[in-house]
Amino acid sequence: MTARQEPVNTGFSTRQVHSGATARPSTPRTIPIHLTAGFPFESFAQAEAHFDAGEGFGYTRVGNPTLDAVERKLADLEGGASALLLASGQAAVTVALLCLAGAGDHIVCARHVYEGTRGLLTENFARLGIDVTWVDSTHDAEQWRAAIRPNTKAFFAESISNARNDVLDIAAISAVGRERGIPLVVDNTFATPYLLRPLEHGAAVVVHSASKFLSGQGAVLGGVIVDDGAFDEETAGHLYPQLTERRTPEAPSLVERFGARARMSQMRDSVASRLGPTPSPLSAFFIGQGIETLSLRVQRQSSNALSVARWLAARAEIEYVDYVGLESHPSHLIAQKYLPNGYGSVFTVTLRGGREQARRFIEALEVFTHMTHLGDVRSLVLHPASTSHAQRTAAERAQLGVTEGTVRLSVGIEDESDLIADLDRALRATLMPTESEEELT
Ligand SMILES: *Cc1c(COP(=O)(O)O)cnc(C)c1O
Repeated sequence: MTARQEPVNTGFSTRQVHSGATARPSTPRTIPIHLTAGFPFESFAQAEAHFDAGEGFGYTRVGNPTLDAVERKLADLEGGASALLLASGQAAVTVALLCLAGAGDHIVCARHVYEGTRGLLTENFARLGIDVTWVDSTHDAEQWRAAIRPNTKAFFAESISNARNDVLDIAAISAVGRERGIPLVVDNTFATPYLLRPLEHGAAVVVHSASKFLSGQGAVLGGVIVDDGAFDEETAGHLYPQLTERRTPEAPSLVERFGARARMSQMRDSVASRLGPTPSPLSAFFIGQGIETLSLRVQRQSSNALSVARWLAARAEIEYVDYVGLESHPSHLIAQKYLPNGYGSVFTVTLRGGREQARRFIEALEVFTHMTHLGDVRSLVLHPASTSHAQRTAAERAQLGVTEGTVRLSVGIEDESDLIADLDRALRATLMPTESEEELT
């Protein structure tokens, strides 16, 4: 595109808008931040072509070169056909599922999912007339088969679940869905594409909270959907009239226009661009920068986490450690198949003694930061029973592997010895008498 002419002989107000308003052409080595609401059309014909066939860039809610670069990077790393970057992980889950399901439809979801996803399905989707069935097992495909109804439009689960660290048997569960044309949507936030690529095992769609490991440094929020681009009209067409039917007799359907990529076209052009959860190009830039070091961070986080988990499991103050990298975890065998490069770095630890012990532990930690976030270069700690899971009953929490003594750790890239020294000091603090107890003695 040619640089715009600078305005001449115009007033101050015109010049403050139009002078120096474009960068001189150059090629930065990093992904440039196209922080702009939109893009001038080069010609009348190009404007027409953009609206007709989506050619080029017009308005950032529909597409932006910075977002596009990060989308191509993520599609490639997950082994998908295309990706859609969104403003948060919640937006990614929402857009992916609303592409597939609408009023009168049904979704089968793993019971062990992020609390925000559970709330989305039980409250928001319920009000839209979308039903959900919760399935306890992340490996018993028969439980998933039994939950299918004629109006089931999606299976949803996390590759490594929050909070129990169960690993999804993606091949087994996606195969049951495929028999009926139902896609498996996998939230791959905890594993990242470095450790696990669900599309390679039969999932059709992957979502992430890019706020976590992908950006990696906790500076921005983001989400992404990656689609396998293999929508099969023959086996699945009957479930998705929004993809196969013409809106008017003259307008070709999405499948007629985009073939096996129809699903992504529906997500991008129909669901996301209408609901509007577009990320800032600045956030997209940070996510793109973060991804460039993903493998290094995740390797280090996984090896730190394994050491920390083993060390904690041997301590008398600890009742149990739910880390899938430990031989004692019920998903350990499945994890060996799906996670050959590391077991991730987010898991829960349950202290003997309940909430008071958990409180003292968290308050004594110095290297670990007490906050509700995960996948950061910094190590983080949270007490789910009083925060993320506070609205659940004690019985529900127990089923989810969250009791009063449970704390969630997200292990960062610090030196392993400093993390263990910090945990050691904090565990000792849980055994100290409190001031009020001291007064009594
Ligand atoms: C954080 C998280 C989400 C939600 O993502 P946001 O970016 O916070 O909206 C979804 N799924 C999982 C597993 C998460 O950890």
